[in-house]
Amino acid sequence: MQRVGIMWRQFFYYFLIIIVTVPTLALFTSREIRRHHINQIETNLKHQAKLVEETLYQFLLDEDSDKINGVVNNIGKKIGTRITIIKPDGEVVGDSEKKPESMENHATRPEIAEALKGKFGKSIRFSATVKKNMLYIAIPVKQDNNLVGIIRTSLPLKEIERLISIINRRIFYWTLALIVFGILLNLMFSRAFAKPISEIVQSTKKIAEGDFTTRVSTKRKDELGELATALNWMTEELQRLFAEVTTEKEELATILSSMVEGVVVLDSDAKIVLTNDGFKSICGLPSSETIVGRHYWEVLRSTDFKQLIDEVRDRGKAEAFEIHIGDKIYLGNGTLTHEKGKKETVVVLHDITEIKRLNQMKSEFVASASHELRTPLTAIKGFVETLEEGVTGEKQHFLQIIKRHTDRMINLVSDLLLLSNLEAKERKLEIENIDLREIFSNVINIFKDKVKEKGLKVELVIPDEFPVIKGDSFFLEQVFINLLDNAIKYTQQGGVKIELFDSDRQIKIEISDTGIGIPKEHLSRIFERFYTVDKARSRELGGTGLGLSIVKHIVLAHNGKIDVESEPGKDSKFIITLPKT
Ligand code: ADP
Repeated sequence: MQRVGIMWRQFFYYFLIIIVTVPTLALFTSREIRRHHINQIETNLKHQAKLVEETLYQFLLDEDSDKINGVVNNIGKKIGTRITIIKPDGEVVGDSEKKPESMENHATRPEIAEALKGKFGKSIRFSATVKKNMLYIAIPVKQDNNLVGIIRTSLPLKEIERLISIINRRIFYWTLALIVFGILLNLMFSRAFAKPISEIVQSTKKIAEGDFTTRVSTKRKDELGELATALNWMTEELQRLFAEVTTEKEELATILSSMVEGVVVLDSDAKIVLTNDGFKSICGLPSSETIVGRHYWEVLRSTDFKQLIDEVRDRGKAEAFEIHIGDKIYLGNGTLTHEKGKKETVVVLHDITEIKRLNQMKSEFVASASHELRTPLTAIKGFVETLEEGVTGEKQHFLQIIKRHTDRMINLVSDLLLLSNLEAKERKLEIENIDLREIFSNVINIFKDKVKEKGLKVELVIPDEFPVIKGDSFFLEQVFINLLDNAIKYTQQGGVKIELFDSDRQIKIEISDTGIGIPKEHLSRIFERFYTVDKARSRELGGTGLGLSIVKHIVLAHNGKIDVESEPGKDSKFIITLPKT
């Protein structure tokens, strides 16, 4: 359906008002004029009747019909009004236009009937006598409250009707002129009213289409003018904001495209909303390919990547996810954003293939160097021990120094070998059922002599029905050896307490000692490779600085975690949590 514009709608309503009110007004005016004229004539006729009454009063009392008729004829001709005199019984005794004898009884005529009741009578009707529409006025003539006759004056309405029709015609022409004028004025006003509105509508459409240069040019001072000014101001603001947003967007696009990292933003339906060339190249796609709007799995099929996305969606964040795509390795980080109620997943992929390769090479080098060094070191140690038997004095002292350093080097080399094996994941975990009670009694046994030597006490607290857990017994034993070794090494008096706890899905192992403790500022770093709180003391005690880093590696490989609590000079507590399965 064709839409009717505001101008024509407005025009139509005003047109309706004009077309209804102007003719109605004309009709009322015409009727009012007619009524006024009839009233005027009525009053005249009444006055004339009164005059006639005064002239004829005596004749009426005398019932002198001839005289009455004569006077009536005479006066009637002079004033141009028909005068009729009727007796109380309705008989006509005088008439200025007809012979009374030829006239029928008038008692039933409405005006006469009224006058007979002693009231003023009036009627407009067709006269059968003179064959015209007439206005009749009848007044009763009384003598001491007795009706002696009725005087009726009447005039044909022809004259009034002629006059009224002239006036009506004039009213009609005026009405027509007024309607035409009204319509023209209406047309003008409607156009003037609709013009700025349609201009505003056009501008709004242009703005909606993105043309912010458009302005409304009305100079009106009313609400429409205010609306136009407000619209212009709003457009200016939009233009400014749009320019800002565009610049920001361009900046973002430039940053994104210059990034070597792959960036992808997914909406809540896992569809790509933003990406860069880096991500496309990871997917093996040319940079010209449009992938926005597609599901991520349509462009990148990778279980690692899917896991990363799932993790981000479940936990709101995912860090340092290793993602293998083809022969490349990426480090993936993701976060969930809640912009304007929309959940978006932002993922950044960093190519670490080269770093991984170098790390691998380094581990391999360290592993083979350690391996190669172990044989000659063991040989040196063996020969030193043999030599020790045959010498005394200063030479023996030197040999002991050589032996101590050789021991340290052997320790270092085996720790390095273990660590590089762990890092290179060369030796995969051999998961089996583990009875921790057994492992701990083995480990405690290893340190039996040392403990005795230092006069320390080792206590193992383990619940009766402690569950069997899953893990690699060789590595876990290594963890407890390292921790117990440290606890004994750094404790001069008191002892070491090993306590095991069993909870729903995990077990907790606490190894605490009453040793020198670890200052707060070192706590976060002691798990780093070669990190020692006191280098000299650690070396003195045969430490390598690798023990805790091996421990951390093994615990993490078992999906567990390790924490440390300590009060320097008082105690240290290492807490390991391991999942049961
Ligand atoms: P190290 O072979 O030197 O003992 P670790 O990696 O095992 O190397 O430990 C790192 C550092 O943490 C140690 O040098 C020591 O300062 C501190 N440390 C570890 N365990 C304890 C402990 N039980 N009490 C006090 N200090 C400790």
